[in-house]
Amino acid sequence: MLEQLKAEVLEANLKLYRKGLIVYTWGNASGIDRDKELVIIKPSGVPYEELKAEHLVVVDLDGKLVEGDYSPSSDTPTHLVLYKAFPKACGIAHSHSLYATIWAQAKRAIPPLGTTHADYFHGEIPLTRPLTPEEINRGYEVETGNVIAETFSRLDPEAIPGVLVYSHGPFTWGKSASQAVENMIVLEEVARMAWGTLMLNPDSGPMAAELLDKHFFRKHGADSYYGQKK
Ligand SMILES: [Zn+2]
Repeated sequence: MLEQLKAEVLEANLKLYRKGLIVYTWGNASGIDRDKELVIIKPSGVPYEELKAEHLVVVDLDGKLVEGDYSPSSDTPTHLVLYKAFPKACGIAHSHSLYATIWAQAKRAIPPLGTTHADYFHGEIPLTRPLTPEEINRGYEVETGNVIAETFSRLDPEAIPGVLVYSHGPFTWGKSASQAVENMIVLEEVARMAWGTLMLNPDSGPMAAELLDKHFFRKHGADSYYGQKK
């Protein structure tokens, strides 16, 4: 079932791996069919070198197994919370990519310092609050999703398609699994640039608001004009 979506989710997972964002099996990507309300996600613990479409797992939004011979990724409950919280997201990615994870471990949001950031993220890439001991013990993966949703209660997940989970690492999302992965690749690059920028000049400060708006809105929204007219 959902063979086309499976092919896309497989390719998204492999791209995370090929781009060097995944060590061992530390990461995953998923996609959702919004009409059928079914999510396709990477299986737990299967090495990327061996990953094939038939290993992927189909679950419903309650996490019930619909198709697959393997257990879904242990992060599946986080993905499901995010699909419910962000109705326009049709793909989600997670990694422990090096520079984004360094920011998450340093417990710092990534400030918008330049146009590379602004092309994809309309403002700071936020950091969640830490999970409480009760949340960690009660339902770690669900609460990880909840703390991300809480962080976006005052933010637009379409304008800022990614987050750093406190002491953990990045999650990103998009209109498809492949766009979620693109946002993950960009987030990692932006994290690396911001790290270097603040090493050279700790007082750099955020970019001008006008420049942030210019770069974000020329690529996104009703008045966008970047790229080829479709
Ligand atoms: Zn993780």
